[in-house]
Amino acid sequence: MEVRNCKGCGRLFNYNGGTPLCAGCIAKLEDKFQAVKEFLRDNPNASLKTVSEENDVSVKQIKQWVREERLSFTEESQITLECENCGAKILTGRFCEKCKTVLHNDLSGAIRKPSGTLTAKPKDNHGKDRMRYLDN
Ligand SMILES: [Zn+2]
Ligand SMILES: [Zn+2]
Repeated sequence: MEVRNCKGCGRLFNYNGGTPLCAGCIAKLEDKFQAVKEFLRDNPNASLKTVSEENDVSVKQIKQWVREERLSFTEESQITLECENCGAKILTGRFCEKCKTVLHNDLSGAIRKPSGTLTAKPKDNHGKDRMRYLDN
């Protein structure tokens, strides 16, 4: 457990990972989140700026919620996000469906590779090489 200054109100609090906010500010932020969610339900075509101004929440914070896939926008919405990989228009999260698939494949491929090379390496050759070296 470490003590940090809350990013919201500046008070010291016991930080245990995650968002650097005290319990009070997290609760406040959660209230804001619910308000924004309701606002978007009632005003699905509102712009990011309007949502920000009407709910007194920063545009950055709204985008953060969307990146975390807690908020999402409709096809008709004026609010758009760009895929962090290719820049395509997306409605929630960080990547478009195409990049999600590609990134996922890359990831599982990278995990499989090291174990594959390990098992492919013949143990016998290694032993022989060592023997020859010792003979010389
Ligand atoms: Zn705080
Ligand atoms: Zn993409």
